[in-house]
Amino acid sequence: MKIHEYQGKELLRRYGVPVPRGVPCFSVDEAVRAAESLGGPVWVVKAQIHAGGRGKGGGVKLARSIDEVRHHSDAILGMQLITHQTGPDGQKVRRLLVEQGADIRKEYYVGIVVDRVTQRVVVMASSEGGMEIEEVAERSPELIHKVQVDPQAGLTDAEAEQLARSIGVPGASVGQARDVFQALYKAFWETDASLAEINPLILTGDGRIVALDAKLNFDANALFRHPDIVEMRDLDEEDPAEIEASKYDLSYIQLDGNIGCLVNGAGLAMATMDTIKLFGGEPANFLDVGGGATTEKVTEAFKIMLRNPNLKAILVNIFGGIMRCDVIAEGVVAASRAVGLKVPLVVRMKGTNEDKGRKILADSGLPIISADTMAEAAREVVAAAG
Ligand code: GDP
Ligand code: MN
Repeated sequence: MKIHEYQGKELLRRYGVPVPRGVPCFSVDEAVRAAESLGGPVWVVKAQIHAGGRGKGGGVKLARSIDEVRHHSDAILGMQLITHQTGPDGQKVRRLLVEQGADIRKEYYVGIVVDRVTQRVVVMASSEGGMEIEEVAERSPELIHKVQVDPQAGLTDAEAEQLARSIGVPGASVGQARDVFQALYKAFWETDASLAEINPLILTGDGRIVALDAKLNFDANALFRHPDIVEMRDLDEEDPAEIEASKYDLSYIQLDGNIGCLVNGAGLAMATMDTIKLFGGEPANFLDVGGGATTEKVTEAFKIMLRNPNLKAILVNIFGGIMRCDVIAEGVVAASRAVGLKVPLVVRMKGTNEDKGRKILADSGLPIISADTMAEAAREVVAAAG
């Protein structure tokens, strides 16, 4: 789960990371009032969307008067902001962050992720912070310094100070940079984050270390431990089909193809997509209905797949382990009737009560194509999708 920059800064501030004074705003009037209360002489008006690259896309503007704050807020609020992370349609800006302008002497980068190869949390820092960090990582990877953190010890004073020196933080500010790195690490660890990034982390004219940006992503599987973080979720920033799916505990990811897949189990769902591709088709989605798929869940899953205008055919692939195939078959029949299914439907079921299940499908009178093997199912559905 992602959150906005202003929410990330609020969270980091609580962990002791210095951030500029700022106010989230939903209208131009609010932005003007925020700027007046912050006091000048310089402000920054920042688009709040769940994507990076806002600066390059025109979503971050410096203002030197209240009139300029009004002008930039008016231009940015409601704009369709296109960045390298939003896709070609961009993302509509519905929120702003108005901040006190900072006096930037130097821009650094610091980010924390889980390194799956070493199975450690890795803290990365660079002297080359700002808007070009992706290019730095590609062209001059030696300018990105890394620390693999021992989970028992956490990020130690010595490691954090060494990291600060390696990116060229001046001696007098090393202690502050160390504290910021350690606070960021603590925030990452305690919130079950999957990404925590400050870019740029700046050195100000008077030698202070301040976070000018904040990007935090959280592990969705750990959100049950963090109701305060769940409250920061902004549904306007998420795919509507994926939101609908999450209400019913369905794992759904929209893809570019035209063959809908409804499968129980993530591994089987992946294998099903591979098999469709092997036979020349393109999956329209990933969809795992989980272990306890009820008729209601299957119906909702059908509805969600059918919202996709590209959908040409559906493949249901179920392994009846704990789940009985006759129950699934009843669910599929009820769901097909409930949604008035118009696209061809191929069903493959294996396992407990598969014969009963197949009989339910056959007796339903619905034009359902039954398949026995995965290959047969994939061939049928690819043919049906044309
Ligand atoms: P991003 O492009 O989405 O990562 O947005 P950022 O929050 O990183 O802002 C982009 C750039 O705007 C930063 O790299 C800074 O160079 C600049 N910026 C942000 N805040 C200020 C500020 O207070 N003063 C000045 N002079 N520049 C700022
Ligand atoms: Mn940034």
